[in-house]
Amino acid sequence: MKVKDNPNAIETVDELLCHSLKRFSSSGRGVWANVADSDWNDWRWQMRNRITTESGIRKIFPNLTESELGGVLIATQRFSMALTPYLTTLIDGQNSSCPLRIQFIPRKEESVVSQQESHDPCGEEPYTVAPNLIHRYPDRVLLLALSHCPAYCRYCTRGRLVSQNHVYQIGKEQLDYIKEHTEIRDVLVSGGDPFLLPEKRLVSILKELRKIPHVEIIRIGTRVPITLPQRVSKSFAEALRPFSPLFINIQTNHPLELTVESKQALGYLADAGIPLGNQSVLLKGVNDDVSVMAALVHKLLMCRVRPYYLYQCDMLSGTSHLRVPIERGVQIIRSLRGNTTGFAIPEFVVDIPNGGGKTPIPPVYVMGEKEKHLLIQNFEGKVVLCPKQ
Ligand SMILES: *Cc1c(COP(=O)(O)O)cnc(C)c1O
Repeated sequence: MKVKDNPNAIETVDELLCHSLKRFSSSGRGVWANVADSDWNDWRWQMRNRITTESGIRKIFPNLTESELGGVLIATQRFSMALTPYLTTLIDGQNSSCPLRIQFIPRKEESVVSQQESHDPCGEEPYTVAPNLIHRYPDRVLLLALSHCPAYCRYCTRGRLVSQNHVYQIGKEQLDYIKEHTEIRDVLVSGGDPFLLPEKRLVSILKELRKIPHVEIIRIGTRVPITLPQRVSKSFAEALRPFSPLFINIQTNHPLELTVESKQALGYLADAGIPLGNQSVLLKGVNDDVSVMAALVHKLLMCRVRPYYLYQCDMLSGTSHLRVPIERGVQIIRSLRGNTTGFAIPEFVVDIPNGGGKTPIPPVYVMGEKEKHLLIQNFEGKVVLCPKQ
């Protein structure tokens, strides 16, 4: 298939860059062409019609690879597969290296588990202080509000907890812990995806948190603006306005995820006065390339989203086919520096296995010292002398 016929078809990175990477295109409907607009734009319809089975995915993508078909079989028993109809329209069924396909369609390689990998790669279990409440860093906690998402990213660091369809009881036990620990000034509500909660339920959790005087800021982590943008209506975004200072972090890994639909969802949130950030995961064949990453961060800024972190892919069981060396992430950040807007550049972080915590791995610019000077490499690669004082 030619790029001209299908805006999502990818031939080479260059072609991709000129055609669709920089453009906000609408998803189109593909095999869903006969669905009424009122259904398509209804997030509950999108959720009811998710693709979660082997026969379901085969119907939409008849040309899956052997590895994908094998992966789908394993996934339906283990960490589920799920894709919203909307998300399937962003996927190129003719190209197995489609970056969305890599993120959401399981592969047989998921059954390969290396010795260093584990089901709890960040070592969160010992820091679970109440059910679904993780207190790893001194002044902030992570509150998991529910266990499901519209779509399952194959490298999900909380794969052990998600895809089971529980809505957690966030109640007295968790709130009491936060109330008693006056050092907690930042509560991060995540999951699963908190934007799948009924609006009333989400608002009531935020209200309870806001009653606690020492909670200065609230954060929500959600991928809904990417996987189910229909969920974020203007009124939904406005319902979050009263909880300011409330920050939202999304997760985007590839510029094709930023469509007209997701841009609108993000626009509603930004218009409601909510600062937006993005976390990416460095993934082989998805964004381990500086031109892809540059296009991604530029599109994010156009959506009023500030790139926050680029994560090294965690040592999660069955993800070695998605991981690239840490050095690659450092190189990408180094290539962005000086060549784009300073605040377009995320911080590259590694969540050290076994609970070591998030740690930045920045490029090294100081090459040595010479008397009263530091030898510094600038963004063009030139080593220059800079007075120490
Ligand atoms: C990532 C994370 C946070 C938030 O970390 P920031 O660096 O402040 O964004 C808090 N708690 C846990 C358990 C986390 O994994």
